[in-house]
Amino acid sequence: MSLERIKELTKLLNQYGYEYYVLDNPTISDQEYDRLMQELMALEEKYPEYLSPSSPTQRVGGVVLDAFKKITHTKSMLSLGNVFSKEELINFDQRIQESLQKPVEYACELKIDGLAVSLVYKLGELDYGATRGDGTTGEDITHNVKTVKSIPLTIPYKGDLEVRGEIFMPKKSFNELNELRKKDGVELFANPRNAAAGSVRQLDSAIAAQRKLDAFLYMVPDALDYDCITHYDSLQWIASLGFKTNPHTRVCQTIEEVWAYIEEYSAKRSELPYEIDGIVIKVNDIELQNQLGYTVKVPKWATAYKFPAEEVITKLKDIVFTVGRTGQITPNAVLEPVRVAGSLVQRASLHNEDNVVSKDIRIGDYVVVRKAGDVIPEVVRPVIERRDGSEKKFEMTKVCPKCGEPVSREEDQAAYFCHNPHCDSKKIEKIIHFVSRDAMNIDGLGEKIVEQFYNQGFIKNIEEIYYLKNHVNEIIELDGFGQKSMDNLIEAIEKSKQNSLEKLLFGLGIRGVGAKMAEVLAARFKTMEALMEAKYVELININDVGETICEAILDYFREDENKALIRQLKELGLNMTYLKETNFRDDTPFSNKTVVVTGTLEKYNRNEIKELLKQLGANVTNSISKKTDYLVCGKDAGSKLEKAEKIGVQVITEEEFERMVSE
Ligand code: NAD
Repeated sequence: MSLERIKELTKLLNQYGYEYYVLDNPTISDQEYDRLMQELMALEEKYPEYLSPSSPTQRVGGVVLDAFKKITHTKSMLSLGNVFSKEELINFDQRIQESLQKPVEYACELKIDGLAVSLVYKLGELDYGATRGDGTTGEDITHNVKTVKSIPLTIPYKGDLEVRGEIFMPKKSFNELNELRKKDGVELFANPRNAAAGSVRQLDSAIAAQRKLDAFLYMVPDALDYDCITHYDSLQWIASLGFKTNPHTRVCQTIEEVWAYIEEYSAKRSELPYEIDGIVIKVNDIELQNQLGYTVKVPKWATAYKFPAEEVITKLKDIVFTVGRTGQITPNAVLEPVRVAGSLVQRASLHNEDNVVSKDIRIGDYVVVRKAGDVIPEVVRPVIERRDGSEKKFEMTKVCPKCGEPVSREEDQAAYFCHNPHCDSKKIEKIIHFVSRDAMNIDGLGEKIVEQFYNQGFIKNIEEIYYLKNHVNEIIELDGFGQKSMDNLIEAIEKSKQNSLEKLLFGLGIRGVGAKMAEVLAARFKTMEALMEAKYVELININDVGETICEAILDYFREDENKALIRQLKELGLNMTYLKETNFRDDTPFSNKTVVVTGTLEKYNRNEIKELLKQLGANVTNSISKKTDYLVCGKDAGSKLEKAEKIGVQVITEEEFERMVSE
């Protein structure tokens, strides 16, 4: 079994390596490749008798194309070991410390997502440039290296010198290149790394010249020979010779500092003008590097922290349906568990029938999964090339998966609904929503517990949450509930009665009233009573309240059942007023007015004027609409001014604004 899997993994990794290194056209994500590699490494460690010297774990990836002249590296160009978590990073540090018997300093660098290059200078002139190839032999790409403007052709140092680094394609060049390829109907590059590799490994240098490549140099082999004591010294030295080095490199004294660097650049990553796929951590002292040495594939004195995957490929095992609190039926993907952006994902919403049909997602497909906004996992698309014919086409359910009643799709809506008012799922979901964090925030009433309490008859609807204390004796008899946890839960339930109005409003689950809208409504009406009596015009005049939400609010408070719920909650002692302190004034010319600011003002920057307007009671928004009362307009105003004039919004200058304030 293990041997079979080892063989299978070897075959797969060789195939993917070929597509990546030779064709510059990967068919799986880097994260999936890394996962398979780790699986193989773990198996080979467990069964060393099966370890073959030609295993992908023992070789530097990459091949040398025959079309190029071959160059034998004077010193092997290796790959890097990987770590994927803080724990693994700490283990790396511990291994180093154990081996050297002392703490060490690390140089931290961005892991540039391009391809490694070796540049050899003789008598101050570029002699040749080569790819890493298989680590021992690379391809002569001098003609293309010369087209990279940041690589110097001559340097002031006249002895023999090799520097190594990364050729990469900046994000901007990559986007422009793919735009052009799209227009020309040519296949797009999967990522800037493959675009850079594809450009450098061209026989015609005119192609590389058009591709706007760049290079950071990050290593001098045998740096001690050049009197560099540390890796960082060597970088400074080559920078003084005219090589481009990365400005974000930092020397860290402890592994905690290294972790802080990783966290800092994980956050800054998207702002960089080039792609990075991790952070490289290198022992800074070169003498110590030499003591630590190398494996056949990687230096022991360095490792790469790889960023968590943002997009991964996994198998979609099944599609199941869930019922929301409004009765909406949602198809959900059941996935082979996979790590995406740091967390394990097993389920992802497929939203609705149209989404699944238009993307042609089938049960049994391999699918690309990513975290939208890095929070909610979503299925981007199926990987059609990996179908084997066993996949099953998707069919929307005809009945509610919970109560079995027929479901139907409303006109103009993508969603199907279960209209059975007694459907248990809807009721459970309503309670779950009511106690959730942004709503009443009742700690200890998680989704599973709500469902259990519902099924056992302790909480059948929202108001019964506040009668749960009557069931404590029965509940503590059940598995998993103790007196202490129940005391805490009852305390959390009692405490929620003091919540400010917006939390209760959001918890009611009025269609279209999210947490932000609940806040707007609560701040405006101050009490539940005032909101319940609000007229259409009062609601529609609030910025952000459109026709649909307005109708939904009015409808909600028309329903007897909802009115009764609110009355009961009030009798149970729930607070029905807005408790937040508001310093906003309601007696200025800007009170309750919707104001937009545009252009450059003389006395205020944008944040200052917005803050001032808010204190004057204004609702400051970013775009002009019919609901805008004033546009405060500075110099060089553009489209907002045009639009304001077109729809008749009152425009005021900075002086007029000041005069109105002083009045
Ligand atoms: P690697 O990319 O994990 O790390 C080594 C490389 O990092 C070096 O060769 C160098 O080019 C680069 N690098 C960037 N910045 C650096 C810096 N500051 N200091 C030192 N090196 C720096 O290893 P690899 O052997 O080049 O490639 C293996 C990786 O490639 C895999 O982990 C996987 O992510 C990817 N891969 C993907 C596929 C696929 O099909 N998607 C196939 C093969 C490999």
